[in-house]
Amino acid sequence: MAQQEWSIEKGRKACSKCETAFASEEVYMSALFEVGEAFERRNFCANCWAAGIENVFSYWRTQIARKEEKRDDRQTLTDLFDNMMSATELEGPRHKLAFLISMSLVRKRLLRLEPSIWRDGREHLVLLRTADQRQFTLPHPEITEEELQPLHEELCKLLGIEV
Ligand SMILES: [Zn+2]
Repeated sequence: MAQQEWSIEKGRKACSKCETAFASEEVYMSALFEVGEAFERRNFCANCWAAGIENVFSYWRTQIARKEEKRDDRQTLTDLFDNMMSATELEGPRHKLAFLISMSLVRKRLLRLEPSIWRDGREHLVLLRTADQRQFTLPHPEITEEELQPLHEELCKLLGIEV
Protein backbone atom coordinates (compact mmCIF):
# COMPACT_ATOMS: atom_id res chain seq x y z
CA MET A 1 0.00 0.00 0.00
CA ALA A 2 2.71 2.44 0.99
CA GLN A 3 4.57 2.22 -2.29
CA GLN A 4 1.73 3.60 -4.37
CA GLU A 5 0.85 6.29 -1.91
CA TRP A 6 3.79 8.64 -2.21
CA SER A 7 5.62 9.76 -5.23
CA ILE A 8 8.21 12.35 -6.05
CA GLU A 9 9.99 13.53 -9.10
CA LYS A 10 13.17 11.66 -8.39
CA GLY A 11 16.51 13.37 -8.49
CA ARG A 12 15.24 16.50 -10.15
CA LYS A 13 16.92 19.68 -9.07
CA ALA A 14 14.98 21.93 -11.38
CA CYS A 15 11.77 23.91 -11.25
CA SER A 16 8.71 21.80 -12.07
CA LYS A 17 7.15 24.65 -13.99
CA CYS A 18 9.83 26.54 -15.95
CA GLU A 19 12.35 23.67 -15.72
CA THR A 20 15.22 25.99 -14.87
CA ALA A 21 17.88 24.07 -12.94
CA PHE A 22 18.45 25.24 -9.39
CA ALA A 23 21.78 26.84 -8.65
CA SER A 24 23.96 25.90 -5.71
CA GLU A 25 22.48 27.33 -2.51
CA GLU A 26 19.39 28.57 -4.33
CA VAL A 27 16.32 28.73 -2.14
CA TYR A 28 13.27 27.16 -3.71
CA MET A 29 9.87 25.93 -2.63
CA SER A 30 8.89 22.31 -2.26
CA ALA A 31 5.18 21.64 -2.35
CA LEU A 32 3.02 18.61 -1.78
CA PHE A 33 0.05 17.94 -4.00
CA GLU A 34 -2.69 15.45 -3.39
CA VAL A 35 -3.09 13.21 -6.39
CA GLY A 36 -5.94 10.84 -5.71
CA GLU A 37 -4.93 8.91 -2.60
CA ALA A 38 -1.29 9.85 -3.00
CA PHE A 39 0.97 12.78 -2.39
CA GLU A 40 3.41 14.12 -4.88
CA ARG A 41 6.24 16.55 -4.27
CA ARG A 42 7.19 19.17 -6.81
CA ASN A 43 9.82 21.88 -6.54
CA PHE A 44 9.46 25.44 -7.78
CA CYS A 45 11.83 28.33 -8.30
CA ALA A 46 11.06 31.57 -6.46
CA ASN A 47 9.71 33.28 -9.59
CA CYS A 48 7.23 30.57 -10.47
CA TRP A 49 6.21 30.28 -6.83
CA ALA A 50 5.58 34.03 -6.60
CA ALA A 51 3.49 33.88 -9.78
CA GLY A 52 1.14 31.50 -7.96
CA ILE A 53 0.89 27.73 -7.90
CA GLU A 54 -2.56 26.22 -7.48
CA ASN A 55 -3.84 23.31 -5.41
CA VAL A 56 -0.88 23.18 -3.05
CA PHE A 57 -1.63 21.04 -0.04
CA SER A 58 1.44 21.95 1.98
CA TYR A 59 4.81 23.49 1.28
CA TRP A 60 8.18 24.36 2.74
CA ARG A 61 11.34 26.18 1.83
CA THR A 62 14.24 24.15 0.60
CA GLN A 63 17.77 25.16 -0.15
CA ILE A 64 20.27 23.34 -2.28
CA ALA A 65 22.94 22.73 0.32
CA ARG A 66 26.59 23.11 -0.44
CA LYS A 67 28.15 19.69 -0.69
CA GLU A 68 29.95 19.81 2.63
CA GLU A 69 26.84 20.92 4.50
CA LYS A 70 24.07 18.78 5.82
CA ARG A 71 20.64 20.26 5.54
CA ASP A 72 18.61 20.72 8.67
CA ASP A 73 15.60 18.54 8.07
CA ARG A 74 14.09 19.46 11.39
CA GLN A 75 12.81 22.78 10.08
CA THR A 76 11.22 21.10 7.07
CA LEU A 77 9.44 18.63 9.33
CA THR A 78 8.38 21.31 11.80
CA ASP A 79 6.96 23.56 9.07
CA LEU A 80 5.13 20.68 7.51
CA PHE A 81 3.74 19.56 10.84
CA ASP A 82 2.40 23.07 11.48
CA ASN A 83 0.78 23.09 8.06
CA MET A 84 -0.74 19.68 8.59
CA MET A 85 -2.10 20.43 12.03
CA SER A 86 -3.75 23.62 10.85
CA ALA A 87 -5.46 21.77 7.99
CA THR A 88 -9.16 21.49 8.62
CA GLU A 89 -9.57 17.89 7.56
CA LEU A 90 -7.05 15.24 8.43
CA GLU A 91 -8.53 12.18 6.79
CA GLY A 92 -7.12 9.22 4.86
CA PRO A 93 -3.64 9.81 3.41
CA ARG A 94 -3.44 13.24 5.04
CA HIS A 95 -3.98 11.72 8.42
CA LYS A 96 -1.35 9.07 7.79
CA LEU A 97 1.11 11.69 6.60
CA ALA A 98 0.51 13.85 9.68
CA PHE A 99 1.09 10.82 11.88
CA LEU A 100 4.35 9.90 10.13
CA ILE A 101 5.62 13.44 10.40
CA SER A 102 4.78 13.55 14.08
CA MET A 103 6.63 10.24 14.65
CA SER A 104 9.70 11.65 12.90
CA LEU A 105 9.54 14.70 15.14
CA VAL A 106 9.28 12.43 18.17
CA ARG A 107 12.40 10.55 17.00
CA LYS A 108 14.20 13.86 16.67
CA ARG A 109 12.95 14.86 20.12
CA LEU A 110 11.16 17.93 18.85
CA LEU A 111 7.86 16.46 19.97
CA ARG A 112 7.27 14.44 23.08
CA LEU A 113 4.72 11.68 23.24
CA GLU A 114 2.48 12.10 26.27
CA PRO A 115 0.02 9.48 27.56
CA SER A 116 -2.76 8.90 25.01
CA ILE A 117 -6.29 10.02 25.62
CA TRP A 118 -9.55 8.45 24.47
CA ARG A 119 -12.11 10.56 22.73
CA ASP A 120 -15.21 9.34 20.88
CA GLY A 121 -14.08 5.76 21.42
CA ARG A 122 -10.81 6.36 19.65
CA GLU A 123 -7.24 6.59 20.86
CA HIS A 124 -5.68 10.02 20.38
CA LEU A 125 -2.00 10.72 20.54
CA VAL A 126 -1.03 13.65 22.68
CA LEU A 127 2.08 15.41 21.44
CA LEU A 128 3.92 18.12 23.28
CA ARG A 129 6.25 20.35 21.29
CA THR A 130 9.39 20.85 23.30
CA ALA A 131 10.23 24.27 21.81
CA ASP A 132 7.06 26.08 22.86
CA GLN A 133 5.23 23.53 25.05
CA ARG A 134 2.32 23.56 22.65
CA GLN A 135 0.12 20.49 22.80
CA PHE A 136 -1.39 18.71 19.81
CA THR A 137 -3.77 15.79 19.63
CA LEU A 138 -4.00 13.44 16.69
CA PRO A 139 -6.23 10.39 16.33
CA HIS A 140 -4.12 7.25 16.18
CA PRO A 141 -4.25 5.93 12.61
CA GLU A 142 -4.58 2.24 11.85
CA ILE A 143 -0.89 1.64 11.27
CA THR A 144 0.88 -1.37 12.71
CA GLU A 145 4.49 -1.40 13.94
CA GLU A 146 5.50 -3.45 10.88
CA GLU A 147 4.03 -0.90 8.50
CA LEU A 148 5.71 2.00 10.22
CA GLN A 149 9.31 1.60 9.05
CA PRO A 150 8.59 1.25 5.31
CA LEU A 151 6.16 4.16 5.53
CA HIS A 152 8.78 6.21 7.32
CA GLU A 153 11.25 5.53 4.52
CA GLU A 154 8.67 6.54 1.94
CA LEU A 155 8.07 9.75 3.86
CA CYS A 156 11.78 10.57 3.79
CA LYS A 157 11.85 10.01 0.04
CA LEU A 158 8.77 12.15 -0.41
CA LEU A 159 10.25 15.02 1.57
CA GLY A 160 13.76 14.53 0.28
CA ILE A 161 15.22 14.28 3.74
CA GLU A 162 17.59 11.97 5.55
CA VAL A 163 16.11 9.13 7.58
ZN1 LIG B 1 10.35 28.14 -12.28
